[in-house]
Amino acid sequence: MKKHLMSPGPTPVPEDVLLTMAEPMVHHRTPDFIAKVGKAMEGLQYIFQTENDILIFSSSGTGAMEGAVANILNPDDKALIIRNGKFAERWGEIAESFKTDPIYLDVDWGEICDPDEIKEILNENPDIKAVYTQLTETSTGVVMPIKELGEIIKDTDALLIVDAISGLAGQEFYMDKWNVDICVAGSQKGLMLPPGHAYAAVSDKAWKVIEKNEQPHYYFDWMIYKKKLVGSHKDPFTGSVVHVKGLLKVIDRIKSEGIENMFQRYKVLAEATQNAVKALGLDLFAKAPCDVETSVKIPESVDGKKLTKLMRDKYGFTIAGGQKHVKGKIIRIAHMGYIEAFDVISVIAGLEMVLKELGWDFKVGAGVAAAQQVISEKYKF
Ligand SMILES: *Cc1c(COP(=O)(O)O)cnc(C)c1O
Repeated sequence: MKKHLMSPGPTPVPEDVLLTMAEPMVHHRTPDFIAKVGKAMEGLQYIFQTENDILIFSSSGTGAMEGAVANILNPDDKALIIRNGKFAERWGEIAESFKTDPIYLDVDWGEICDPDEIKEILNENPDIKAVYTQLTETSTGVVMPIKELGEIIKDTDALLIVDAISGLAGQEFYMDKWNVDICVAGSQKGLMLPPGHAYAAVSDKAWKVIEKNEQPHYYFDWMIYKKKLVGSHKDPFTGSVVHVKGLLKVIDRIKSEGIENMFQRYKVLAEATQNAVKALGLDLFAKAPCDVETSVKIPESVDGKKLTKLMRDKYGFTIAGGQKHVKGKIIRIAHMGYIEAFDVISVIAGLEMVLKELGWDFKVGAGVAAAQQVISEKYKF
């Protein structure tokens, strides 16, 4: 059975990237490889849309999240965490584990914050050092109002710190134009690589805070990366050389498409998926749906856990279910990374077959037709 990986990470890896990563091993201290690291950092600046420094870590995305807390907040420092999903909660767990003093703005899963509320909280708490949020909260499928938050936070002493692990290279995002101070990402989602690399882009405003940080850390001490990696393109440790090589191929792909065209393409994939599930009589879970994943409410009469299991075991489609209290109640179809129009049409076809088997009443073919219509009108192959 052919496997279709449509989960929000890991995502499929393009053929040219796989081939590069399978080449014989190279040494990480050769001039040739160090030049590749420099090129990768430059390419990431394009993808993040920033002139800020880029850091590369050999870890999963959470390593960069941890660094973005531990290098910013000293024990007892106050931070604001907008908590509206599982990954937002992770910011809180990290902040608490480093004995900082996070305050939470709790928002229902599937919803986003009101930027005015953030403004009020910052006014009332001028000692907040940083605001932590996601570009796209993968557990619910929403996109956060980063641009609006940037407008508010840029005139304060606080930093805006964004987890774009699932959003980068899919969801529209401009780090510099939107006044983001730290943005973290990972390799295995929009960036079409295997898991194992994490990235952070760091503004001058953030470096001023990092330079004064007193929290104990070693592997994720960002000052070491600034000195070695930013300074001379040398990884302080033995970084994943295969990821760097793969990343260069990914950068070529993204540059040749152009970032604006890329944003537009994922927008169309999202619209096709959203229209398809609505045509099947289902509702979206996210109030502000993102472009890299579609989260869908599963009706009570349908067994959501059985649905994802049948999709995978019977037809080969790996999609995601819900996490925590929405387990079994939603499904999440990812259209990030190396996913194109016919992948979306296929997954909708599979979803229809499974929904029929589980007794949901709808017109077979309606979802596929809705996706086809959006794609034939708007998708640029
Ligand atoms: C996947 C994901 C993470 C976790 O990344 P890992 O690579 O699994 O450590 C964090 N935040 C968001 C928004 C994600 O989608």
